[in-house]
Amino acid sequence: MSGNSNEFNALLAAVKAIATNVAAPAAPDVDARARFPQETIDALRQARVLSAAVPKELGGAGCGMRELALLCVALAQACGSSAMVLAMHFIQVACLARHGRDSTFFRGYLQDLVRNQYLLASMTSENGTFGETRTSICAVERANGRFTLAKDATTGSYCSYAEGILVTARRASDAPGSDQVLVLVRKDDCRLTQTTTWDTLGMRGTVSPGFKLESSGAEEQILPGSFADSSAQTMVPYSHILWSALWWGICADAVARAAECVRAGARKNPGSVPPTALRLAEVSTQLQSMRHNWHSLAAEFDAITTRPAGLEELLAIGWALKMNNLKVSASEAAPQIVHKALQIAGIVAYKNDTKFSLGRHYRDVLSASLMISNERIAAKSASMLLVLKDT
Ligand SMILES: Cc1cc2nc3c(=O)[nH]c(=O)nc-3n(C[C@H](O)[C@H](O)[C@H](O)COP(=O)(O)OP(=O)(O)OC[C@H]3O[C@@H](n4cnc5c(N)ncnc54)[C@H](O)[C@@H]3O)c2cc1C
Repeated sequence: MSGNSNEFNALLAAVKAIATNVAAPAAPDVDARARFPQETIDALRQARVLSAAVPKELGGAGCGMRELALLCVALAQACGSSAMVLAMHFIQVACLARHGRDSTFFRGYLQDLVRNQYLLASMTSENGTFGETRTSICAVERANGRFTLAKDATTGSYCSYAEGILVTARRASDAPGSDQVLVLVRKDDCRLTQTTTWDTLGMRGTVSPGFKLESSGAEEQILPGSFADSSAQTMVPYSHILWSALWWGICADAVARAAECVRAGARKNPGSVPPTALRLAEVSTQLQSMRHNWHSLAAEFDAITTRPAGLEELLAIGWALKMNNLKVSASEAAPQIVHKALQIAGIVAYKNDTKFSLGRHYRDVLSASLMISNERIAAKSASMLLVLKDT
């Protein structure tokens, strides 16, 4: 879908309408009760947004990275948790669409997803791997064309509400921790036992407690290839670009609320520029830089994927560093921007019950640096920089 096609514009307009009419009014309750934003996800299903990342030949909208990012941004301006659910779902769909395209099973599954607007969740975290997504302890066991898989996940966003979960595991019980595969576990293939709670500072509507998963299914539900490739070529770029975009959306709404306060102040004293307008000018430059970063990398990803050697390019160290830099810089900028918006708006934003409230925005963006720890990412970048050959 080209960025400005009528079809994409209609999809974006539908998400903007859902953001305004459904997600924004529900957001305070979703946040207060740490509950799943069911009404927003239902509305997205109704508007066929959940198949936006499925290629056109399989019945989806065939959206590229930039387009998916714009859909996440539109929702994030109303409810950060809903946007995170949508982004995480798009990431899983992209893994299936890009790495299961030669599998009859996965092509059929994606067509079912388009028809039924399934929601997909992710289980990469595991007790004992300490946030390192590229290592698994659990392993897939195969026999007679079937698999069994048990996993003890520390965090599983909206797993109780999803029709399918993409689970990382070792390829076999004798494989090393880094030899991983991705397995599609459907609702009917598994038993989920909740092991922890989800009473967090922010992103409360993602409903992400720990779970023990016990599952079995057909061997064809194991995504072809290795997770090493699907992680580098799809999961990491989709995660870091879509997350950065939605964190930006939360910041944009925070700055818009601050700007409304400043303009209201200016209207009271016609002819004078309130001192907070200067701070608003400052924060708007930061907001613009943050947007430019994710937007240009989304466009670069879309360009790379049109080239014959695109998959190879995504395995290069230079690209991995760009993704790490984007994630770290966006997750550091987001709380700073919301903090500045709070200073500009003042007490009306500090209060939880005004139209300028920024508590939820602030708490939501604090998750950004923890969601794949920035320290862990920085350590990986440091190793890569030691061997990077400047071009
Ligand atoms: C809102 C939200 C939703 C999530 N949803 C999901 C989901 O759906 N599915 C899923 O599987 N997971 C999910 N996660 C979990 C996420 O993917 C990570 O696994 C998790 O946030 C990492 O947890 P941790 O802080 O214990 O990890 P760690 O990476 O182990 O970090 C622990 C501590 O060690 C420090 N540290 C780590 N590495 C280094 C290093 N190299 N050098 C120095 N210090 C280091 C960190 O700074 C941190 O203080 C979610 C997380 C959040 C916040």
